[in-house]
Amino acid sequence: MNQPSDVISDAALAPYNSFSLQARARYLYLLREPAQLTELFRWIYANDLPWLVLGSGSNVLLLEDFAGVVIINQLAGITLSETKSDYYLDVAAGEDWPSLVEWSVQQGILGLENLALIPGTVGAAPVQNIGAYGVELADVCQQVEFFSIAEQQQQCLSPAQCEFAYRDSIFKHALKDKALITRVKFRLTKQWQAKLNYGGLRELGEGASAQQIFQQVIGMRQQKLPDPKVLGNAGSFFKNPVLNQQQLQQLMVKVPAIPVYPASAGSSKVAAGWLIDRLGLKGFQHGGAGVHQQQALVLVNHGQATAADILSVCRHIRHQVWQNFALVLEPEVRFIGAHGEVNPDTVLGRPDASQ
Ligand SMILES: Cc1cc2nc3c(=O)[nH]c(=O)nc-3n(C[C@H](O)[C@H](O)[C@H](O)COP(=O)(O)OP(=O)(O)OC[C@H]3O[C@@H](n4cnc5c(N)ncnc54)[C@H](O)[C@@H]3O)c2cc1C
Repeated sequence: MNQPSDVISDAALAPYNSFSLQARARYLYLLREPAQLTELFRWIYANDLPWLVLGSGSNVLLLEDFAGVVIINQLAGITLSETKSDYYLDVAAGEDWPSLVEWSVQQGILGLENLALIPGTVGAAPVQNIGAYGVELADVCQQVEFFSIAEQQQQCLSPAQCEFAYRDSIFKHALKDKALITRVKFRLTKQWQAKLNYGGLRELGEGASAQQIFQQVIGMRQQKLPDPKVLGNAGSFFKNPVLNQQQLQQLMVKVPAIPVYPASAGSSKVAAGWLIDRLGLKGFQHGGAGVHQQQALVLVNHGQATAADILSVCRHIRHQVWQNFALVLEPEVRFIGAHGEVNPDTVLGRPDASQ
């Protein structure tokens, strides 16, 4: 089978990952219409090529050159409809998430404002159930549409079928490498209520408007998070550990002041960034990579970092956190090797391996 005419050979991936790492792809494909997928995947299968879909590449660590096809999702289009009680947004997966949030707030379609300025595409948002300031994608999602690679057709999932959890969904498990998300539908109630449970928003007071929340979230994010266009990074590098009561009590003996947040089923989430900061690792550097000066959970590329530099910093942090707090930090960022995603523990080794 012939190579589709718009496949680009030997492409640079630096513009397509927010760490700005200098990896290359054997092939690159800009996806603009869902109809392109059938022919593309026929060719991919005929040639037994690995494939990877990226949106803005703001949650990936490219460990090396990719040996197959990197598909850049550029599917575009937003459709708005409404009933007496709700607005419905039907959004193509390549749309830019921060722009969608800004546009919806401007239109008076409210409910996304707490999720302002999270980099990336709409199609990647369900994958790790993006969340910030007390709201997750799961709270506003009505349906996720995807191209099933095995069935070669579009399919839909309800939010319950997506199995959303903290930074998690079915797209990281049963549908990993089997689904390419093409559209996400949102239901936003007209009976809008401000979500002000998170620090930094409470001070706005009960009467806060969505516009005020939007501005406040943007202000806070700009203050503490580096802009990937200026300093390469992928946001929070690690997930916040989720602990049961016993684990939490053990940790609190060592660090009674650690911030704790409620998580599902009686468990608690603790702030990984606070633990890293406590170890004095803000500003720690190895090669071209380091821990951000203002936000200990963010690893940055100071300009010339390689993936190996970032791995060294990551390994050092995991080791220190294990030694001091007996916790193993799990990366939130997805590790991508030459043939697809790889398990971070395989690449890094586990700090608790010898216990
Ligand atoms: C400065 C900064 C701040 C951040 N803050 C937050 C935050 O507050 N909360 C939060 O949750 N995240 C945050 N992130 C992480 C990131 O913004 C989200 O994970 C975002 O959803 C990634 O979107 P993307 O398009 O860049 O995905 P990519 O990085 O391109 O892809 C991420 C993963 O999803 C898969 N994927 C992408 N598109 C599709 C698709 N269409 N179908 C199937 N799989 C797909 C990819 O294969 C990859 O495994 C932050 C990142 C940065 C750089």
